[in-house]
Amino acid sequence: MSSSSDSEYAYPSSEDDDDTDMKSSSGSTSSSSSSSSMTTALEGPGYILLDSQSLKHRLETITNELASLLCINHDEALVLLRNNIPPWNTHQIQDHWFTDPNALRKSVGLPLTTEMTILGKRNRSSSLMCPICYDNLSTSEDSNTPASEDSNTMDYVHLACDHNFCSNCFTTYLTTELAGGATECSALKCPDAKCTLRLRSTTIQHNCSIQYYEKFQTAMLRSFVDMNRTSKWCPNQGCDVAAELTSGVGQVEIFCSCGFAYCFNCPNEAHKPASCIQQNLW
Ligand SMILES: [Zn+2]
Ligand SMILES: [Zn+2]
Ligand SMILES: [Zn+2]
Ligand SMILES: [Zn+2]
Repeated sequence: MSSSSDSEYAYPSSEDDDDTDMKSSSGSTSSSSSSSSMTTALEGPGYILLDSQSLKHRLETITNELASLLCINHDEALVLLRNNIPPWNTHQIQDHWFTDPNALRKSVGLPLTTEMTILGKRNRSSSLMCPICYDNLSTSEDSNTPASEDSNTMDYVHLACDHNFCSNCFTTYLTTELAGGATECSALKCPDAKCTLRLRSTTIQHNCSIQYYEKFQTAMLRSFVDMNRTSKWCPNQGCDVAAELTSGVGQVEIFCSCGFAYCFNCPNEAHKPASCIQQNLW
C-alpha cells in the first residue's frame, strides 16, 4: 500500500445506495442545524443548490453517522471517508468494516492500534530526534498538543504510527503539501516516506494556520462533490456552489445563485430545448 492510491480519485461510484444515503443525511442536516452561519439551500425543479457552508454541514453529518455506527471517533471516520476507494462511499465502508476492520484500516491508512494505545505512554524515551531537522525533541507530557505557546522546550508531534516530528518541520511539511494541490490534500499522510498513516483532520487543524486548514477543507468538499454522481460544481469561474439532483438523473437545467445557468449532464450552458447531443453538434 503506497500513496499511489491518492491518485485514484477518478474512480466512478458504482453504488446507487450512495446517493440515497447523501440525500437522507441532508434531511437531518437541515433539521439538526440551528447555526445562523448556514446559508439556506436554494431549490429548483429537480435540484438543490449547496454552498460550501451547507456542504460542510452535510459532510459533518455523514461523518458523525459513520462514527457512531462503527463506534469510532469522528476523526477516524473522516479518514475512512476521505481515503476509501472510492471516497465517501459509506455503504462500501460499512461492508468492508464489518467484514474485516483491520484490512480496511490498513487500506485507508489508519493505525491498527486503538485510540487508547495511541494516547498511552508509548515511545517516551528521553532522546527523541526529529528525522527531518535532527533536532532533539522534548518529551513533555503534552506531546500531542500543538506548539501554541512560547516555551523553551520544543514541542513535537507524535503520530499514531509512532513517528515523531518537531512542530516546525511538521507545520512546514503540512503547509507545503496543502499549498501544492487540491485533491492530494484529502489524503495527507505521515511525513515519513515509507509510512502510510493518513493524518487526522484535527492533527492538520492543530498544526497549520487557519488559512491552510481551509485549503484542506476545500479539498475535501471538492472530492465530496466530485465523487457523487448526483452533484456537480457550478462551472462559472469563481463560483463555489454545487448543485445536487433530487429527482433522478435527467436533462436538468441548473440556475445557480451566481446567475449562471448550466446543464447538469454536459459541460455546456443551459441549452433547452436542444438535447445535450444536439448542443454538442453546434
Ligand atoms: Zn524538525
Ligand atoms: Zn508515520
Ligand atoms: Zn454558480
Ligand atoms: Zn446538456
